[in-house]
This record gives sequence, structure tokens and C-alpha cells, in this order.
Amino acid sequence: MDNSFRAWSECAADLVAVAAGRRPADLVILGGQLANVHTREILRWDVAIAAGRFAYVGPDASHCIGPKTEVLRWSGYVIPGLCDGHMHVESGMLTPAEFARAVIPHGTTTMFTDPHEIANVMGLPGVKLMHDEGLMQPVNIFTQMPSCAPSAPGLETTGYEISAEDVAEAMQWPGIIGLGEMMNFPGVVNGDAQMLAEMAATARAGKTIGGHYASPDLGPAFHAYAAGGPADDHEGTCEADAVMRVRQGMRSMMRLGSAWYDVETQITAITEKGLDPRNFILCTDDCHSGTLVQDGHMNRVVRHAIACGCDPLVALQMATINTATHFGLERELGSIAPGRRADVIFTSDLRELPIQRVIARGKTVALAGKITTECPHIAWPAEARNTVHMGAKKSAAEFAIPAPNGAVDVAKVRVIGVVENQAPTQALEA
Ligand SMILES: [Zn+2]
Repeated sequence: MDNSFRAWSECAADLVAVAAGRRPADLVILGGQLANVHTREILRWDVAIAAGRFAYVGPDASHCIGPKTEVLRWSGYVIPGLCDGHMHVESGMLTPAEFARAVIPHGTTTMFTDPHEIANVMGLPGVKLMHDEGLMQPVNIFTQMPSCAPSAPGLETTGYEISAEDVAEAMQWPGIIGLGEMMNFPGVVNGDAQMLAEMAATARAGKTIGGHYASPDLGPAFHAYAAGGPADDHEGTCEADAVMRVRQGMRSMMRLGSAWYDVETQITAITEKGLDPRNFILCTDDCHSGTLVQDGHMNRVVRHAIACGCDPLVALQMATINTATHFGLERELGSIAPGRRADVIFTSDLRELPIQRVIARGKTVALAGKITTECPHIAWPAEARNTVHMGAKKSAAEFAIPAPNGAVDVAKVRVIGVVENQAPTQALEA
């Protein structure tokens, strides 16, 4: 993290002085239509920023302007920077720095990332590399410690097996925000000691346990999973899934990734059933780099939620304050309010969400779709490169499957059935 960036408690005196008009702000935004995600109001309010945080948010910031204050006039909307509640950098085939560089122009200023793909290959040292590079970025990247490598024990050959001790150790690292998706839901339901120990270590550290209940069974198995501690879930695919999760006190994370389209089928829990939207969060989970370049990131998800009939301010809450609240960061980010990290987007349209300017921690990081900041890399070590080991050279013959019972042209084989735009697959024969 940028070392010049101080905690609210350490710069409160400066923020007080700016808001009171005794000291000029670093940056002032005048004339905007501010989206207040605490109250779901649009307010003709100004914003004054100092030390990378909001100092004054109110009807007239002219008293915060000094000779060196940068003044931006913007008559369009001023909205909080967007948060991705659960995602994997590796799905973009990128490092954290390059992922940040791709999504900052789309208005993403906070990401909750679970580096479980690198954990599968390199274990805890790999997680630490991703975490370290994430902390260096000009936007907020919080790491969820992977819980399940392998995700299906006995069915996979991974390079590393995460232990409960690994989880307990990672919980001590600064910036670790919680436990990544608890994918071994049968383990939780069956009382598996290691899965329970991982969740206990997370709970003892006062952090959030991420869920992943990829089953349509909403009977006792789901209730048992909820009793184990996962606080959110992004595997729901229909309205009943979303309703059941929030009724259990979990947050329903609705996902729009490159291949997962789980918002439209669940958002009716809000738009038609009228459930309290503060318990819903938008996320991407997995975005290929092509999606990031061509379609966007969290701006794409918010736009889609609105197109599905969601009120724009509700959709915005689901990608800002709801996410921050869920991870215990409501006083730190996710809204335009005093003391929070000054993460702001300028947009001229609340439905289409063109991203005209992105400010992170009080500095402009993207303008008209172009990044204007550096996204620093760590020196990736040799052991993190060339990690795909194929053994002997492969020949075409090795991929031939002999047909049973002497059949020549036709054989019945097991195939994986794709469910269009969803994560679950089917075991079929063809
Ligand atoms: Zn995930």
C-alpha cells in the first residue's frame, strides 16, 4: 500500500481542519450530483478531500478551497468507487498489478480477491506473492485466504494442500480480509474437522468467512452449511437460492462473470419480492481478460443489474456500501462520507455508467477510459514461473480413447454437460 496513505485515526485532525475551513483541501469537487448510498439520495453536494480521504461532504465546499487546492467542476453524477465482493485475479490470466490496470478505468477501486488458483500450484508462498502485489496497488485489493486447495479432495492432484494451520497463519498477515469461498460444502455439512478448524481460525481472527454452496439442495444440508459459519454465498442460480441465503442471515452475492449470469435469475428477490436489498452484493467471481477489455468489470455488473429492473441507487449500494459493510469496512470505504477513502467516479449517466473519471484515495487514476497511474509489480521469483510440468512430450496417440467391446465408429462415452451461463455442469453420456 502507498506508504503516504494514513489511517483515518492518524489524519483526523487534518480532516477536521479542512471541514471546518481552517485548512485548505487537497482536492475539491464542485457542482456534482452526489449519490449517497447510505440514504439512497442524489444530492447537489460538493466534496473536499485531504490526505486521500473525504474531509467535507455537503452543500457548499467553497470554504475548503485554498490557493493550492485542485478544483474539479463536474455537473454529472459523483458516485462511490465500485467494489467487487468476490473474485479471482487468476481468471483474468493476469497478475494483480495488470488486473488493477485493466479494471481501474472501469471504476473498480476495491476488490476482494481469493488467490486459490495460485494456492493450488504454489501454496501459501504463492498466496503471499499475490497479496504483496495487491497491497502495492493504487486501489484497494483485499485478500481472502484460500480455504480449499484442492477444492474436491481425492478428485484432484494439486501442487499443495492448504491446512488449517496455513489459514491461521495467513489470518495474521496485515490486509487479509477473511477466508475465501468454502467450496468443500460436503465437508462442512459432514462436520469435517479441517474445514471447521479453518472457519474457526477465521472467526477467532474476527474476519469474514466466504461461502460457496454449489448445490440446489436447500434442505437440512444447506442449513447445516449455514450453521458452520459461511457469511455469504455466490453460487445461487435462482430466486429461491437468494431468498434462502438472506433468510439465514447470509449475504447473497449475485454474480456476473464472463461465463456466470446469476444476477437476472436472482434479483427478483429484490425487484419483485421486495426483500431488503442491503443483504445483497454484486460480484464477478471470474472475468476473462477479454471481458475486462471489451465489456468492463463491476460497471458491467451494475449496468446489468439496472437493466434487469433494479433501481440504479439500489444497484449502486450492492456494489459499494453493502460490500464494505459485509467485510467490516463500512467506516473505511464504500461511500462518499467523511473519513472514508476518497474513491470516487464521475459518470454522466446513472444507468449506462460511462466512467469519465476515477479517483482513488484522492488521486485521479483514470480519465476517459485511460489509466493515469502506475500499477507496480513485485519481482516475481523464478519459482513462480514455468510451473506447468508436463513430464514427457505428448503424442497424438495418447489422446485416442479405445472404444469398448470392439466398436469401430460409435461408442457411448461420458461427457460433461454445460449449463449455459451457469457454473454447475451435468454428468451425461453421449
Ligand atoms: Zn470464486
